[in-house]
Amino acid sequence: MNELELKFDELCKNVHNCILCHRMEGSQRVLNRSVGSLNAKIMFIGEAPGRLGADDTGVPFHGDKSGHNFEELIEFAGLNRSNIYITNAVLCNPKDDTGNNSTPNTLELTNCSKYLSEQINLICPEIIVTLGANALAATNIIERHSLILKKHVRTANVWNDRILIPLYHPGQRAMMSRSMANQRSDYQFVADYLKKIDKKPKAQKGKSSLNVALIVDYLFSIKDSYTYFAIHKLFYLIEYKSVQRFGYKLTNSYIIRQKDGPYVTDLNLYRLKKALPYLQIRNLSQVNILLFRQPYNLFEERLIDKFFLPEEIKVLIDEVVQEYGNKSNAGLKRSVYFTQPMRNILYKENKDKINMYNSPIEFNIESTYKI
Ligand code: SF4
Repeated sequence: MNELELKFDELCKNVHNCILCHRMEGSQRVLNRSVGSLNAKIMFIGEAPGRLGADDTGVPFHGDKSGHNFEELIEFAGLNRSNIYITNAVLCNPKDDTGNNSTPNTLELTNCSKYLSEQINLICPEIIVTLGANALAATNIIERHSLILKKHVRTANVWNDRILIPLYHPGQRAMMSRSMANQRSDYQFVADYLKKIDKKPKAQKGKSSLNVALIVDYLFSIKDSYTYFAIHKLFYLIEYKSVQRFGYKLTNSYIIRQKDGPYVTDLNLYRLKKALPYLQIRNLSQVNILLFRQPYNLFEERLIDKFFLPEEIKVLIDEVVQEYGNKSNAGLKRSVYFTQPMRNILYKENKDKINMYNSPIEFNIESTYKI
């Protein structure tokens, strides 16, 4: 573990023990390795973890409607979780008296600003993007500025030795003030700005790599149904085999270590359904979900018909499905735990007596597949 990782983990530990805000009792402290890259040049700051989003998944901006919108927007701009850093102005979910999401108050923003400031100092991003008025207010607590969201949206401002770009929150309520179309242009502005300051971007992985949904579409051309659990594990195994065989990952998927093994953030149910409308979902039990395709429709436009998937990739996916596709969930779990990236994580957990839930799984490769 390098010094930056050690310091970050120490900060996470402090946050997890924090009891400064009474209202946050019982909420998750959402600061862990799923923030994205610790070496990111760009940091996104949201308002607070959502009750159905990060407070539930532990992954910032993931699992609820705001998360889906955010993921769509970064994807549109050619960014992804492995080259950005994502956090919130307050790291716990504030709830109102009825248990619903509430807005953080000034005291909570002030309490948590020390952690935000520590994250900024540690990560040293060149660009900070605030999402919503409260995130912008949080930066004002750290170092004064006179920026107003309505007036300064989509502008680049010098603040605290870096560039601060105020944007609207991607939640449904904020969409009334700033449409999705406008927000797309906002994120494009951010991506263009990043390119401007970074003539040689480290990871141009956005649109040049294979689409995650294309791989899954191909999976459903081999077999009609998979459990949701299996989709995540098979996808991980495909990436793992690709790194072994070709030396690169096929996509820029962001895969994290969760309790039952690898979890691909790009494959949450909402995104899968949106990318592959033919998919049907059935709950087999509280935790086991089955995904299956509707009977083939002649007029259906499949991603595999629209986009080119090279033969050697198809062969690799066929092999993975043949070897692992009919395994039980327990068998699949065993198989992924035997792979080197998962063993590395388990070794570290054992050695350092920590759990690395939500940490990105390292494949130790430089590039993704270029088409
Ligand atoms: S919101 Fe921040 S300051 Fe408040 S309890 Fe959570 S971690 Fe602590």
